[in-house]
Amino acid sequence: MEILKDIRDLNVGEVLADVDIREYTTYHAGGHALGLVIPFDVEGLIILLKYLRENHVKHKILGKGSNLIFSDEKYDGILIKLDALNDLEVKGREVYVGAGYPLTKLAVRLSRLGYTGLEFATGIPGTVGGAIYMNAGAYKSDMGYIVKSVKVLTPRYRVMEMNNYDMHFHYRSSFLQQNKDYICLGATLILQRGDPDEIMQLIEDRKRRRIESQPLEYPSAGSVFRNPEGDYAGRLIEECGYKGYSIGGAEVSSKHANFIINKGNASGNDIKKLILEIQSKVKEKYGIELKIEQEFVE
Ligand SMILES: Cc1cc2nc3c(=O)[nH]c(=O)nc-3n(C[C@H](O)[C@H](O)[C@H](O)COP(=O)(O)OP(=O)(O)OC[C@H]3O[C@@H](n4cnc5c(N)ncnc54)[C@H](O)[C@@H]3O)c2cc1C
Repeated sequence: MEILKDIRDLNVGEVLADVDIREYTTYHAGGHALGLVIPFDVEGLIILLKYLRENHVKHKILGKGSNLIFSDEKYDGILIKLDALNDLEVKGREVYVGAGYPLTKLAVRLSRLGYTGLEFATGIPGTVGGAIYMNAGAYKSDMGYIVKSVKVLTPRYRVMEMNNYDMHFHYRSSFLQQNKDYICLGATLILQRGDPDEIMQLIEDRKRRRIESQPLEYPSAGSVFRNPEGDYAGRLIEECGYKGYSIGGAEVSSKHANFIINKGNASGNDIKKLILEIQSKVKEKYGIELKIEQEFVE
C-alpha cells in the first residue's frame, strides 16, 4: 500500500483503493485494481505519471471502460480517469471538449444546439478521449470526420496540439493506439449548422434502430469484432451457430451475433474465452481471421 500512500501524499487528485473493476466497465466484469486516481487537472496528471513511470508502477487510462475486458486477476497498478478534464467551449462552428467528457452527452447537447456531425455518436457510451483513441464511429462516420485537432500530453510531458492528419485516423484506429504513451487531453471539433428538429429526429430514428437490433438491455462492450472487408462479423458468427451460445455468464447475443453480453456473473475470463473460441471457429470455417475490436487488459 506504499504506492497508494505516496500517491495520496502527492495530492494530485481523488484516490480510490482496491476498486472493483466491474463498476468501471460496461461489461461489469473483471477483478479488482490496486487503485484508481482521478487527477484534478493536467498538472496533477503530469505529476502522477512521473511518479508512476519513475517507480515502474503499471497504469492505464480508463474512459468509461466501454471497450475493455479486464482479466479477473488483480490489476496490480493504477487506473487513471480523466473525469475532471471535462470543459466544453463552443465558438462558432468549433467546439473544444475535454477528454473526460461523455461522448453521448456531448452529442446530444450539441445536436440540441443545432450542430450537425455528431449524430453518429449518440449511441456510443464512451468518453471523448476513448472515442479518439478508438476512432469510434457508426453510420459511415467517425471521430476522424469531425476532429480538427487533438490536445495531447507527450511522453515527455509536453502539452501539444496534433492536427487531424497527424492523428492517422482509420477504421477504429488512430495514432494513440500505436503510441500508447501519448494521452488525449481534449479535442477541437468542427461541426456544421443544421436544423435542431431534423437532427434530433435523426438521433431518435437511430436510437430506435439500435434498440431494435442491439441487446442494449444487457451489459456489453458493443461490437466484439471489426467487420472484415466486404462482410459482417455478425453474419459469420451467426452462420457458425453461435447465437445464444455461452461460456459461464458470457453469451453471444441472440439479437446480434457480434455482441457478447453479460447474462449474470460473467467473468472477464469467460468473455475472453468466448471471443477466442469464436475467432478460431470463424478462421477454421471461413479462413477469415476476425480482428477483435475490444481490448483485453491483464
Ligand atoms: C452498447 C455499446 C455500443 C457501442 N457502440 C459503438 C459504436 O457504434 N461504435 C464504436 O466505435 N464503438 C462502440 N462501442 C464501443 C465503445 O463505446 C467505444 O470504443 C468508445 O470509444 C470507448 O470509449 P471509452 O471512454 O469507454 O474508452 P475505454 O473503453 O475506457 O478505453 C479504450 C481504450 O482507450 C484508451 N483511452 C481512453 N481514454 C484515453 C485518453 N484520454 N487518452 C489516451 N488513451 C485513452 C484506454 O486506455 C483504452 O486503451 C459501444 C460500446 C457499447 C457498450
